[in-house]
Amino acid sequence: MMTRIDDLPPLREVIRRHDLKPRKSLGQNFLLDLNLTARIARAGGPLAGATVVEIGPGPGGLTRALLAEGAARVVAVERDARAIAALDEVAARHPGRLTVVSGDALEFDPAPHLAPAPAGPVRIVANLPYNIATALLVGWLSVEPWPPWYASLTLMFQREVAERIVAAPGSKSYGRLAVLAGWRTEAKILFDVSAAAFVPPPKVTSSVVRLVPRPEPLGCDRAALERVTEAAFGQRRKMLRQSLRTLGFDPKPLLASVGIAETARAEDIPVEGFVALARQLPDRKDA
Ligand code: SAM
Repeated sequence: MMTRIDDLPPLREVIRRHDLKPRKSLGQNFLLDLNLTARIARAGGPLAGATVVEIGPGPGGLTRALLAEGAARVVAVERDARAIAALDEVAARHPGRLTVVSGDALEFDPAPHLAPAPAGPVRIVANLPYNIATALLVGWLSVEPWPPWYASLTLMFQREVAERIVAAPGSKSYGRLAVLAGWRTEAKILFDVSAAAFVPPPKVTSSVVRLVPRPEPLGCDRAALERVTEAAFGQRRKMLRQSLRTLGFDPKPLLASVGIAETARAEDIPVEGFVALARQLPDRKDA
């Protein structure tokens, strides 16, 4: 059992001293097991020379592991004011290596923190607050221009969300999220983490997912791709000749032009099929 990774106080003491009683409204499920935080930090690497953006550092367990595993710099965004003082202590222990940003990750603009551009890669690593995890991921997957400003995403999700990210066509979990993630990245579930590893334990099992941006995703307009998948999966049990009518025109010629059967359903169509449809989509009149 690993007992220390640095000479800062144990996390339980940090939590007690800073009165960091976990709050459900902030999606706070803390990781106090140093073996596990080290494993997640390593999964997020290689960290030597890397700048890490961490969302929701909380009492700082994963943050400390990222620093111990050799990240050149960590920029950590935390909304809970109670955690900032605890994190400032970690920053003081690692001069110049940890920047604590107090604020909402959904509003966070990394640009000022990454200028001038760091020499090494930028990696996003986080044990995400589950109430905003999907919104954050969709934001990172929607970055323009592509390839994005980060070299990898290594993120903890609820197992059910992890399955929706990596789902293959034909599976129940396959939907808009899998198409967006599969189009722009290679996504993989690395390992599961049992609920018992968290304080307090969430209701479900979690999974660490790694997503690596594809340097050149199949060419299509992201907004067009989103219109198609929204229409197709909006009524996922219907045939595409029916569900795609919500695009505002008769979809049969469109389907024929890309060689997709009118009777196919959204969940049967691989990413390339949606990309082909998005490419042929007539310009939106009201756009
Ligand atoms: N990284 C810590 C760990 O692994 O023990 C804490 C992870 S906990 C699942 C999620 C963290 O995200 C909490 O510290 C919470 O305060 C923070 N958080 C919740 N909503 C946030 C938001 N909108 N912006 C930034 N941080 C947020």
